[in-house]
Amino acid sequence: HAAKGTGDQLRRWTPALDERSLEHARLGAELRTALDEGQFHLVYQPIVELPSERIVAVEALVRWEHPTRGTVSPVEFIPVAEQNGLIVELGAWILRTACARLADWQVCHGPNAPDRVSVNVSAKQLARPGFVASVLAVLAETGLSTECLTVEVTETAVFEGGPAVTALHELRALGVAIALDDFGTGHSSLGLLQTVPVTTIKVDKSFVDNVTQAGRHAVIAETLIRLSHGLGLTAVAEGVETAEQAAALQRLGYRYLQGYHYGRPVAEPDFEGIAAAA
Ligand code: C2E
Ligand code: MG
Ligand code: MG
Ligand code: MG
Repeated sequence: HAAKGTGDQLRRWTPALDERSLEHARLGAELRTALDEGQFHLVYQPIVELPSERIVAVEALVRWEHPTRGTVSPVEFIPVAEQNGLIVELGAWILRTACARLADWQVCHGPNAPDRVSVNVSAKQLARPGFVASVLAVLAETGLSTECLTVEVTETAVFEGGPAVTALHELRALGVAIALDDFGTGHSSLGLLQTVPVTTIKVDKSFVDNVTQAGRHAVIAETLIRLSHGLGLTAVAEGVETAEQAAALQRLGYRYLQGYHYGRPVAEPDFEGIAAAA
């Protein structure tokens, strides 16, 4: 009997689901406290330009230092914050903090400071009325020009079209760069290049991992760099962990690399170090 079958199924997966949604609810409630008590901080990962290996940009990545759980990964809490709406307030804090930080670095490090900061923005933030105005307010407040900011979005953030894509067009028109994150892993990465005003593709780590071996991933990495050049876009290879991968990517024509090989995300990257060693 169909109804009974459904009931049996429900009984089997309900406990696990309950536990997960309970954990979600707990994290969600704790996010509020975390914001109020300042448990978040940002770390910054270098994006280097070849062949100089100068740090031309940094990607801001959020960290949550939970009083009892320790460091909670953004992979865990960002989806929760998106669900309960706190991402709007958290995201605003992230954007303001990252821009203020870049402004500080430009004062302290002069020409060695990165030219831009890349900030991950989620769909909920983008689609909110007033998002573009809030970005402009942050830039005005921190004294940065629009060219200093890259907004990183994932395919899911812009897949629906609508207000999120409209916001991206407005930002682009103002001079903000738009990066498609984890490029190549979604269902319609190529299609989005026609509807979203993309300036940059971030080639996903999964294509970088095996780029040193002749095979599928190397072919895709090569195709993506050609695609980006053909369309006049910038390509950043993500998750570069070894010198061999960096060399292979450079041979394919990549100019912008990011990954543990050049630096893990840290509170204070060494802007003098990498360029000086090169
Ligand atoms: P993402 O934007 O694609 O960020 C890259 C992730 O890859 C980061 O993980 C980074 O630490 C990691 N990574 C960088 N280089 C390497 C490498 O060489 N090897 C390996 N194994 N990993 C590398 P993280 O910081 O845990 O962030 C995970 C995801 O969480 C991000 O993926 C992004 O989607 C989201 N996220 C992080 N910070 C924020 C934020 O401030 N706002 C929003 N909305 N999402 C964020
Ligand atoms: Mg990103
Ligand atoms: Mg990424
Ligand atoms: Mg990624």
